[in-house]
Formats: sequence, structure tokens, C-alpha cells
Amino acid sequence: MTSPRVEINLGKIQANARYLVRRLGARRISVTGVTKAVCGHPDVAEAMLEGGVTGLADARIKNVVRMRQAGITCPISMIRAPLLSEMEDVINSCDTSYNTEMAMILKLGAAANKQGTSHGVILMVEMGDMREGVMPEDLEHAAARVIATPGVALEGIAANFACMGNVAPTSDDIARLSGLADQVEGACGPVVDLVSGGGSANLPWALGEVSTGRVDNLRLGEAILLGTDPVTGHPITGLHTDAFTLFAEVIETSRKPSPVPTMSIAPELGMLNLVRNDDLRARTILAVGQQDTDAGGLMFPPGTAFIGATSDHTVVDSAKAAVPVGSEMKMGMNYSALMRAMSAPDVAKIVHGKQKMNGSAKDREAHPFLTLV
Ligand SMILES: *Cc1c(COP(=O)(O)O)cnc(C)c1O
Repeated sequence: MTSPRVEINLGKIQANARYLVRRLGARRISVTGVTKAVCGHPDVAEAMLEGGVTGLADARIKNVVRMRQAGITCPISMIRAPLLSEMEDVINSCDTSYNTEMAMILKLGAAANKQGTSHGVILMVEMGDMREGVMPEDLEHAAARVIATPGVALEGIAANFACMGNVAPTSDDIARLSGLADQVEGACGPVVDLVSGGGSANLPWALGEVSTGRVDNLRLGEAILLGTDPVTGHPITGLHTDAFTLFAEVIETSRKPSPVPTMSIAPELGMLNLVRNDDLRARTILAVGQQDTDAGGLMFPPGTAFIGATSDHTVVDSAKAAVPVGSEMKMGMNYSALMRAMSAPDVAKIVHGKQKMNGSAKDREAHPFLTLV
């Protein structure tokens, strides 16, 4: 079979989505499936929908268009602010978008008006992650302006945690976000339908006991796809962590002395070559590299350890696990490795479990449009 390739188990993605939808549903929180790490792969999106997510979200319009072209008609939102050059596509393909800039919201409204439609706006509020977001003190004013803008409808507010800063939200953050929703409604009337708490980093509190306040939605990518917590990297109980597997072929297997320590090289390059200084280690070279994935984010089989990677080669220490040339090595991926592999044109994507899903999709009234071919 072609290599390198990612093999995708749709049943596990569906099961992860279903578990989270059920657990969060009991807390009155809906789940939006985030597809950006798989570039809007329609089969993965469909597996999330089969698992019960109420809508999908992606950060790139190209990925949304890919899903629409595959026949997916559920609500899709843009979770990155739309670019000036893509306003029309965003209005055509997305029901809502997450925004922070009034100038762009005015342009979205004008473009929606021109197309004779209305576009949903969710205001992203800055809660400490210091990526995108309106400052909390400006939110009320921003909301009033969105409400007054023709062509757009304010649908809610949203926060982002642990994207830039690796800090999980606390119950205080949730209370603060809830307070902001109340404040906007106090000033503008009952306009905040959706209070989206953020991504998978919210699961520790959301699956726990603390009050959910007004948070009624989470946008989940990593937890559904990889079953892991983005802050700790640890598996989340109840979820599959092996829905995606990377396979690469072994192109050299040999015993080589470790390289001489590179003392003179700039310290920032030191990370490239921290090799154990034993004599003649068994080393395996895989035909996969940084151009295909984030090699540092791969999980190797027991007895195998990552040494280093260049654009097209990954070198592993295989002293405890002999692997013949021409055979394949099977690897797990973290979020960054998954995202790169899914977007790399030279990495094949092989989907398992589509037959079954296809069958169930046919029986399903809600998505009669889904004829997977
Ligand atoms: C990527 C992203 C998410 C999903 O984050 P996960 O950690 O993968 O669950 C949610 N919201 C926004 C704005 C994002 O960019």
C-alpha cells in the first residue's frame, strides 16, 4: 500500500464525538466539531455528524468549501475571522463566522446584503489567551454595533482558551464569560443565544461538576480526533486515542556510531541532535519527514525512540526493536503531527469504516443529501 499514509478509523471518531455529545449534552452544552486539523476531510466531518455534533467549524474557507462540495449541509461556522478577499465565499458557505473587527463585520454585512441574505456573527472576546478577541470592556459596545449593522445578525459570544497560552480555563473564567453574556443582554436585550466556551481545553471543567454558567457550546477538535487534552497531552477517559495512524516505510536499517556531539553549533540548534553517545546503535530511517508531518510529534512503537528528522527522512533508534528494510513502521501522532500529515499532499489518506457509515447515513432522515461516493 502507498506510503507514507494516514489511516483513519471513522468508527472511533464517531464514538469519540458521541461520547462527548452525550456527556456535555447532560450539562446542556452542545458540541461543534472542529475540522481544521483534518483540512475539512468530508468523511471525518461526516463521522463527527454521525456522532451527534450540532454543527461543524473550520478556520479556513477552503476546507469549508471542500465539505460543502462533498454534500455536507449542516451549519458550518468560520472560527477564524474571515479575510477581506473571501467574504463572498464565507457568506455562501458558512452560516456564521467568529469576528472581532467592526470594519470587517460591516463588510460582511454589505456582502450578505448584496447576496440577499443575512450572516450570523459571533463576537470573540479576549479572556486572557491573547490571541483574537474583543476586549471585555468593549464587548457591549461591539455587540450594539453588530445589532445595528444590516446584513448580519448577532448570534452570540465566544472565548478562546489555551490556544496561544497553554493555560486551561478555570471556573472563574466561565463565570466571567457568563457575566459578559448577561451584561450584553442587559444592554441590548436577549441577543446572546450562543455562549461558546472554547475548544478541548475546556473539557476538564465541562465534564466535571463546576457550574457551566451560561456556556452552552464547545468547539471540539483535538478531543474528538485524538482523544487527548490539549493542555496536558494526556488521554481523556472514555475516548479513543488511536483513530489516526501514520505508516512510513523503512528505507535503511543499520548500526552506526553516534555523531560526535556538536558543541560548536549554535545552542538553538542543539535540539536537532541530542543523540546517545553509545557505540554502534541500531538506527532505522523512515521515508517520512518534516514535509509530511511534525516528526517531533510522532509516537513510535515500544523499543523505538526518535533521534531526528529532516524534510524527507526520520531517523529512529531501534536498538530494542529490529525492523527490516521495506517493512512499515506504525506511528501515533499528536495534534501538530496530525495537522501537518493531513495537509501534506504526499501523505495518502486511507479511510476505514466508511461503508458502515454510508449505510447508516442512507437511513438517516436528517441528512438525506449525503450520498458518499
Ligand atoms: C482550533 C480551534 C478550536 C478547537 O480547538 P481544539 O483544542 O482542537 O478542540 C476551537 N476554537 C477555535 C477558535 C479554534 O481556532
